[in-house]
Amino acid sequence: MKISYVFILIVCFSLNLNASVVQKFSWVSGESFLWFLKRNNISKDLYFNLPPTDKELCSEIIANSEYTVLKDGKTIKQILIPISHKMQIHIRKEKIGHSIDFIAINSKNIGKQVLITLNTSIHKDMYNKTHNRTLAGNLVSIFGKNMFKIMQKGDKIAINYTQTIKDGKLLGTPAIVSAMVEVNKKAYFRFKNPHDEKYYNKKAQSASNFFLKIPLKYSRVSSDFSYRRFHPILKKYRAHHGIDYAAPRGRHIYASGDGRVVFKGRKGGYGKTLIIQHKHNYRTLYAHMRAYKKGLKRGKTVSQGALIGYVGSTGVSTGPHLHFGLYSGSKAINPNRVVRKALKTKLKGKEKKLFDMFAIKQLDLLRDISLNNPYHKPYKNIKNNCAIRKS
Ligand SMILES: [Zn+2]
Repeated sequence: MKISYVFILIVCFSLNLNASVVQKFSWVSGESFLWFLKRNNISKDLYFNLPPTDKELCSEIIANSEYTVLKDGKTIKQILIPISHKMQIHIRKEKIGHSIDFIAINSKNIGKQVLITLNTSIHKDMYNKTHNRTLAGNLVSIFGKNMFKIMQKGDKIAINYTQTIKDGKLLGTPAIVSAMVEVNKKAYFRFKNPHDEKYYNKKAQSASNFFLKIPLKYSRVSSDFSYRRFHPILKKYRAHHGIDYAAPRGRHIYASGDGRVVFKGRKGGYGKTLIIQHKHNYRTLYAHMRAYKKGLKRGKTVSQGALIGYVGSTGVSTGPHLHFGLYSGSKAINPNRVVRKALKTKLKGKEKKLFDMFAIKQLDLLRDISLNNPYHKPYKNIKNNCAIRKS
């Protein structure tokens, strides 16, 4: 059903039927979904009639992201607003009023490989080769800044990463699957374990001591994480980009990990919201807060466990609870997957076996990346000439 909608939409767009016009806009920073509806003369009930988790999704619109409006004369026929690299809000003109649902983005993930030799700086060299502004930063956060301080001209970096593409355009940030960084002719590796989305070295040791904690003492989980799951009965995509923890009003909320406050303010249905940027390109989001900790400002650094605010019911909320979201780049991930593995520093048993199988394939791939590039010494030589130090 939903797939046919998307198909119809694509046909309309590409044929530009009758007087239909497709317009692309950039989502204005700070604009709420409700204000957007009002501005386009669409009833606010469209939003108010949504279940709570869908209302929360309407707060996930990323500022400056491109959305599409299909118009017939002056009448808006359809609107598509992305809320992640996988999902978008779909508004449609009906005989009476409008309908809203959440549909998949017609995008694909493509694998990309890059090999660079350090010449000026990792950021400059990476940009010159890939025209991607975030890849170097992601790499640095995975290996840690210190690794790159001692790199020398001529050292090499090989990366296998994925990038989401829609209509030929890059969407979201690249996700590094595996990487090799050579420092003074010694190779270091990182592999993103598909089972917990964390980075490990060749010995299946966690690549950092970074971990997240559940940010409060809660009574119960009132709504669990769900990622663009097609609901067989409702025949709809349902998603909840976080975990809702029910807790009494005023209960303390603590920073889930060390980081820096990058957002403080109202965020649509999320009400009073804080976003903290952590290492390794992770961000945590705390919503529906009653109040922020006094003196906490945007730009401030916070330590894990530091008080940041109080449980409330601001925004769209049926009762006091904390909506806790976790993002890796532009991808919403299940906080449980990261929080539960918090203290594990080394994979063992079956988990290690699965990881080893994955890492062997990735090592081969990283080797191929080096071999396929005519300008560089094959990676094989690096391996033969130097001991691969444990990292
Ligand atoms: Zn929630």
